[in-house]
Amino acid sequence: MTEFASLDGKIALVTGGSRGIGAAISRELGRAGARVAVNYRSGKDAADAVAAEVGGIAVAANVGDPADTQALVERVESELGDVDVLVNNAGITRDTLIARMSDEDWDEVIDTNLRGTFNTCRAVSRKMLRRRSGAIVNLTSVVGLHGNPGQANYAASKAGIIGLTKALARELGTRGVRVNAVAPGYISTELTDVLSEELRGVILANTPLGRLGSPEDVAAAVRFLCSDEAAFITGDVLLVDGGLGM
Ligand code: NDP
Repeated sequence: MTEFASLDGKIALVTGGSRGIGAAISRELGRAGARVAVNYRSGKDAADAVAAEVGGIAVAANVGDPADTQALVERVESELGDVDVLVNNAGITRDTLIARMSDEDWDEVIDTNLRGTFNTCRAVSRKMLRRRSGAIVNLTSVVGLHGNPGQANYAASKAGIIGLTKALARELGTRGVRVNAVAPGYISTELTDVLSEELRGVILANTPLGRLGSPEDVAAAVRFLCSDEAAFITGDVLLVDGGLGM
């Protein structure tokens, strides 16, 4: 019997797969039968550990850099095979109020989050189109839907990812390639460890399920969207947020 949302025999590339939500996604896709390439930027030891756990490979690349990203995809193709499943998870924050936001704060976040997602989608798209199959899942955020003070750069990058997702869903759909986004609420990772107790309290008060999410909560949704169980779902933005963003 086929396991629910199985990815048996698929080749998956997870950007920023070395820790946090990306590591949980790498483990979940590996558990579902995929061979996983775990991308990272600087945390080699963490990426190696996740790759060893899932029987995949760890590949360093800055997804914000087009040449680096092209090399990343070519390395995955030569070591594992053509990419069936792409999860754009790599993301950073550089939070501050707009009056104090430097050009570097803006550029780094847009380059990693939005340009990075574009770079990987472009690098895998030709082969996915030729093979008439593929699944792409892009990590956005409730902040990309609703905004958040102090996160103009991050919110813009995540809203941009939603537009990119929908444009690609329309462009690639007739050729069998599905493109969806997952919008987590607040998830316990290093990215959110820095939240003040006060802000944490506000978030919990506005989350009907009354807790922060876990990386595994997000990974399960990503796995579903990557699988054939989601064969008729494209261009969607699936909230995984305990009800925060509805
Ligand atoms: P973490 O900070 O825990 O992990 C980020 C990952 O991205 C690391 O593996 C890091 O690798 C990698 N990374 C960062 N920059 C680059 C780059 N330029 N190229 C390649 N890899 C890079 O983040 P989270 O797990 O919390 O978040 C994962 C995704 O989920 C992000 O897109 C984030 O915006 C989104 N999200 C998170 C939420 C949360 O509450 N945590 C809420 C909503 C969305 P390395 O360690 O090597 O630098």
